[in-house]
Amino acid sequence: MTIHPIDVILHKRDGLALSDEEIRGFIRAIVRRTPTRQLVTDAQIAAFLMAVFFRGLNSHELAVLTEAMRFSGEVAYTGVLNTFTIDKHSTGGVGDKTSLLIAPIVAAAGLAQPTPEGVPGICVPMISGRSLGHTGGTLDKLETIPGFDTQLTLPRMLDVLRQCGAALIGQTPTIVPADRILYALRDHTGTVESPFLITASIMSKKLAESLNALVLDVKVGSGAFMPSYEKSKYLAELMVQTGEASGTRTVALLTSMDEPLGRFSGNWVEVWECVDILQGRRHPLSGDLIELSNALAGWMLHLAGRASTPQQGAELSDQILRSGDAYKAWLKIVETQGGDISVFEDPASHHRPTATRILKAEQSGYLASMDCRQVGWAVQRLGAGRAKPGDPVSAHAGIESHVKLGDRVEPGQPLFTLFSEDAALLDQPEEMLRQTIRIASAPPEKVPLVREVIPSRP
Ligand code: URA
Repeated sequence: MTIHPIDVILHKRDGLALSDEEIRGFIRAIVRRTPTRQLVTDAQIAAFLMAVFFRGLNSHELAVLTEAMRFSGEVAYTGVLNTFTIDKHSTGGVGDKTSLLIAPIVAAAGLAQPTPEGVPGICVPMISGRSLGHTGGTLDKLETIPGFDTQLTLPRMLDVLRQCGAALIGQTPTIVPADRILYALRDHTGTVESPFLITASIMSKKLAESLNALVLDVKVGSGAFMPSYEKSKYLAELMVQTGEASGTRTVALLTSMDEPLGRFSGNWVEVWECVDILQGRRHPLSGDLIELSNALAGWMLHLAGRASTPQQGAELSDQILRSGDAYKAWLKIVETQGGDISVFEDPASHHRPTATRILKAEQSGYLASMDCRQVGWAVQRLGAGRAKPGDPVSAHAGIESHVKLGDRVEPGQPLFTLFSEDAALLDQPEEMLRQTIRIASAPPEKVPLVREVIPSRP
């Protein structure tokens, strides 16, 4: 049956549920159109997006849209490995570098128990993104490792998984092309924030990895993508529902993003912080990063059958970190993807900002709050992020946090050190940080790092 885009738009505009054929036909038209054969125009796609923005999608429509997008291009058939494939996705934060710890932790567990074919028992086909808005991107961090190649083809990714149990790569041009087209138009039509469109966008890309299970880290708080706890929770529920509908066991953790995670925020500095942890050096400011990484990896190990509860999984994750096995897996992944592992011998010596500044407390009291989104923008403006897609990012820009929420501070005590490769870029971020930090006479209420779990099955 021929699907006419105008009918799909009218049905959604009028609040009707779309049929499976309408959704599939619309997505097919988007990816099959050519400059000379406009099966659907940009204006029609924009109208469809706005109709979905206002009318929403029921859970069946959302599952069908996600599936149509997932199969709009090439899919990573990780099923050929006959292993348990699992990934983690975060909705993005500041200093959020858990992927760099979780991938080697879970890979190490898989390498320790290979399948009869000699493939690691668990594989993590991690397809990551670049910095977006105020949040950092895993690929930008990894690319500060000399030689590390994030642009692998899917067959090459399977090779790395076979050898290492994890691969850390970027989106290929052929995976989920429908999302690229829709996302570009969402950006220009005020429809980015729809929880339905966000779910279809994120989940279509994750499900294209052919996963057995997925753990989602959905941020809540001032540095989160969604503006309120309720909206983050709703997004988490939609994503869990959609993953489960496709046959992938999916769980979401709602986690606090009210301050940068760990000690450093930036690019190389975040790799350095993770290498310190992998090598057994635990800086006190990295405590929250280690706790969250163990919680997320713990769920992954539990879903993969390596631990009977997520809590036991977190303990196993910590053991794998402390034993050095995660570091061995990390070296193997980096080397196999072409990276120069000699930089990990003395990671501090590879941090080479040309300009630094220390922001100090002006009064005594407790670090009470900050707008974490503003902190993220300060990091990006130091040079760690990009103003537009394709801009280069600075490897050495970023910030070091010297205190955490609730800590006691005295006048003159360092709060943040700012790093840049251009002294002219220091003033504005310093002012942004100064403006957003609040020091009060009483400590703030303590908020747990993992606020709530949205389970895969009731
Ligand atoms: N990240 C994505 O990949 N898609 C969205 O819609 C939002 C964040």
